[in-house]
Amino acid sequence: MIFLRNKYSVCPGCSLLCDDIEIEMKGTEIDKANNACIKGVSRIKDTKKLESKIDGNEVNQDEAIFKAAELLQNANNPLIFGLDNSTTEAQLEAIKLAKLISATIDDNSSFCQGPIVNAILKNELKTCTLDDVRDYADVLVFWGADPSNSHPRLNSKYAYYPRGKERQRGWDEDRTAIAIDVRESSSSVLCKDNFYQIPPRSDGELMTALSSAFSGKMPKVSFDIETQRILKLSNILKKAKYGVIFAGLGLTYSQTGIETIKNFLTELNTYSNFHLIPMVGHYNMRGFNQALYNETGYVNRVKFVKNESGNLDIKHGLQYSVLEQLNNKEPDTVLIIGTDPFTSMPHSVAKKLKEVPTIIIDPCETLTEKIADVVIRSAKSGIECGGNAIRIDGTCVELVPIINSGCLCDEHIICKIMEEI
Ligand code: SF4
Repeated sequence: MIFLRNKYSVCPGCSLLCDDIEIEMKGTEIDKANNACIKGVSRIKDTKKLESKIDGNEVNQDEAIFKAAELLQNANNPLIFGLDNSTTEAQLEAIKLAKLISATIDDNSSFCQGPIVNAILKNELKTCTLDDVRDYADVLVFWGADPSNSHPRLNSKYAYYPRGKERQRGWDEDRTAIAIDVRESSSSVLCKDNFYQIPPRSDGELMTALSSAFSGKMPKVSFDIETQRILKLSNILKKAKYGVIFAGLGLTYSQTGIETIKNFLTELNTYSNFHLIPMVGHYNMRGFNQALYNETGYVNRVKFVKNESGNLDIKHGLQYSVLEQLNNKEPDTVLIIGTDPFTSMPHSVAKKLKEVPTIIIDPCETLTEKIADVVIRSAKSGIECGGNAIRIDGTCVELVPIINSGCLCDEHIICKIMEEI
């Protein structure tokens, strides 16, 4: 694992964790976050002070922590969900809490990039670092991904525009960018003629057609695209010296199985040298996946159960995913840390939270807190408190706090909850 640390600040606005942010202060307030994109600036500069709550009424933080501990202690089947916007240290404490109270623990990767990160951690998918992308990549494939919006500085800092060790002639001559997506996007416009628009859920079919084309067979697909274009795409991929597929949510939601993706990359790499980077959104989702994987062998969907001899058993499976748990009304108390189910999940699932005691630890105001029994305000990690996080490419980055707000971070809040139990 590579550790990054320098005199600049790190932006926790997305999983690129840009480490070149120059902060200008005005008194005790952050005035400017130079080099950050708009998304990063809004994340870094939003340090609005909010209060903790019980049943919608403002309380001090200790009261909210005490109430949360009481609810969790009395729960028979608690669920802990979120943590993708928390530091690795907070994630490890949450795993300890899950063990202490025999909880199910899951995160957003459960319904997005989990299978891809899992395959990478098991060395079943070839990957690389962003620094490798900048130095060597000559073919970039944005598959179901729109980094111009999701990871705004990817192309300027690492992928398309910068010069690197073996990419000295600049973007137009030295790099080819390809977009494969169901619709035009800011990123597909950048790719000009190398934008391949495909119908929803036909990504796997295109992979199969490309695999045929690699071995000289005539590619066949059931949707409307010229065979010549598939052959052209197959040629670019085969001739790449150092290719990178940025796998976005579009590819995940196309329901292309992980086996299809693995087989495609293996087939492609009999001719070429391709790598895959999952475009995880939350700044430390990879950190959560890695922390849980190190503890249990699974990246998400885990339940800790005390067996008859008092030891902990680890259970894993679809039934322990947050969606299944809520759909089946399994949990009797839910602790949500740094995420907002009412904006990320189908409403039909998120609304089930109204039926169970719900505790939220979050620095920001969220839609979900409207139905929460307890809201505990935490410091914003990377801005008001420090720690480590895992970047989109698996590199560990140290977050150094920019300001001292005196607010407790989620790591310490979870520790205090455990002390109360
Ligand atoms: Fe922050 Fe992401 Fe923008 Fe970089 S690209 S400045 S990490 S929001």
